[in-house]
Formats: sequence, structure tokens, C-alpha cells
Amino acid sequence: MKAYQVPSPGLPLELNEMETPKPSGTEVLVRTIACGLCHSDVHIHEGAFDLGNGNKLELPLPSPYTLGHEIFGEVVECGEDANNVTVGEQVIVYPWIGCGACSICNSGDEHLCNAGQTIGVLKTGGFSDHVVVPHSKYLFKPTNVPAHLAGSYACSGLTAYSALKKGAPYHNNSMIIVGAGGVGMMGIQIAKAAYDINPIVVDVDQAKLDAALEQGASAAINPTHEDALMKIFELTGGEASAAIDFVGSEQSVAFGINTLAKGGKYIIVGLFGGELKVPLPMIPIMERKILGSYVGSPQDMKELMELVNAGKVDPIPVEQRPISEVNAALADLKDGKVLGRLSLIHD
Ligand SMILES: [Zn+2]
Ligand SMILES: [Zn+2]
Repeated sequence: MKAYQVPSPGLPLELNEMETPKPSGTEVLVRTIACGLCHSDVHIHEGAFDLGNGNKLELPLPSPYTLGHEIFGEVVECGEDANNVTVGEQVIVYPWIGCGACSICNSGDEHLCNAGQTIGVLKTGGFSDHVVVPHSKYLFKPTNVPAHLAGSYACSGLTAYSALKKGAPYHNNSMIIVGAGGVGMMGIQIAKAAYDINPIVVDVDQAKLDAALEQGASAAINPTHEDALMKIFELTGGEASAAIDFVGSEQSVAFGINTLAKGGKYIIVGLFGGELKVPLPMIPIMERKILGSYVGSPQDMKELMELVNAGKVDPIPVEQRPISEVNAALADLKDGKVLGRLSLIHD
């Protein structure tokens, strides 16, 4: 098989050829058709997350490692104990796989397992033309979803779905989405599909705000404009119950948290980085609830795929590029030059 691999954090990806793995036991071998490029691939490629103040969270990565966790492909071989799966089936891979044995995994939150075996981080991901999935329960079958879009439901779709779920219930104009990149766009679609509301969207980039309005945002607000907060209060009547921050920067949180009503939830999803700087007395006085949301559970994925397969989630813009252009694609994503999502197509 062929894989574009990171030889060492920060270095350009290299094309390597190696033996195609043979699935055993419950394992399933999937041939990658398309793999979404995610903003967290930028961070995983750098090998660290920015913690603010010059501090970094280093990731324990193998060397070399193969990125890509938004995998859509075709089942090509099954281990002798694999069931509920047939060769030739087209599948989306749920990559946030836990150890399967701890209390966290048993509670259903495999994505929060301390010994996680995430495909595309610790295990070979979709920048390889074949991936091994440990069990067929991690495979989801899309119906009527184009190949270049399907994989994005395993990360950006799932991340948006799980984050929005934490802020529910909603009423009209009670949801603020901060950041209209790929995941924020998914958030708009899922707000419509799962909660039947059109969110208010905040972004510093006018092109992204225009796209958000096209995708169904009820209003698009640039936080650098002087009257931005006033405008949001007019729209929400001061009753915004949840803001979902798909940027996760010091600036986005500083602005976004002030859009909320008392008792409102601030849900941080984006991994841009930095430190939380919030005046402490305002947390009790305003009864702020600051939550983190990280991808989503297998159950969230199941619920999301029911909405997707029912045709309820409108597609977000996805740009397609050949996998051979992966280095340029990573650079463009890092520089904020991608509108919506980017999908890498294998040949
Ligand atoms: Zn991702
Ligand atoms: Zn576990």
C-alpha cells in the first residue's frame, strides 16, 4: 500500500510504500477512497497544541505517522471473526477508538478513553490508501452521500453534532456559532437538521460570513465591528442560551462569552489555542457554564448518520484535491485559504 507519512513532526509528508496489512480476528481492511483534511491535522502534523504563554502540549506520536481521520472507503477484506460487514461495502470509519476495556469506554465515551487508539493519529489514517479498522462496529454506511463529503461526518460532522447536543435545548435565535470554517458550517447544517433553528454566526472573515448566510445562518456578525455585541443582543433579546466556539482562540472566547444570557453555556470546540482569560466574578454572577467538547461518541455518530441518511443534513462546500497534493493542501488550510472542507482523493 501507499501512504503519505509524516517522518517527524513539522516535516513535509513523504510518500512511502509498504506491505498492505492483512486483517485478522474482528479486523476489517478498508481501501481509502477519500479522506477529509481537518484543521486538527495541522496541529497533529506540528506534533503539538498551543497552550498559550509559549507552552505546548506535545502529542505522543509514532515515527513515522500517517494522518487522516475523515475516512470514506470500501471494505476489501475481513478478518475471520468480523461480522455485519461485507467486502465491497462503502463505509465511513469512526476513528475515535478507545481501549474497549475501561470504565470510560464501557460508558460509551470511547472518544474520551485514556488509552485511545485513534485512527489517523496513533494508528495509520486515511492518508494511506488502506486502513485497518479493529471492529465492524466502527463502520457506518452512508446512503446517497457523495464520496468526497462522506468522511467529513466522522470528524467535522460528529464534532459539530456532539457540541450542539451539549447546548440543547434551543429556541429560535438562542444559538450563537463562533467561527464559520468547515466545522462551523457543519454546525449550521446540524442546527437546522437536528433542532430546526437557524443560528447566529460570528466570524472575522467576510467571505466566511457570506458563506454562512448562504448555508442558512439567520444573521452573520463580524466581531471586529464596534456594534457587534449590540447587534447580537438585539437579535437574541439577550437570551442566547448557548454559544459554540469552533475557533477556540483567546479572542473568540473573549467576544463569544459575552453574547450569552445568564446561565448560558459556552462550549469550546476549536483548538486554535491560547489561554482562557475571563474575569472570575463574572462566572458566578452570570452563572457561566464553560464546557469543552471533543469529537463525539459512537452513539453521537449513530444519531448523526441517521440524520444524514435521512437526507436532513444539507451538504457543506467541499473542495476536492488529489492526495498527491497533500502538503500544499495542509499549507493552505493552515493559512486559512480553504472555504468549507477539503477532501483528498486517492487514485
Ligand atoms: Zn478532525
Ligand atoms: Zn478505554
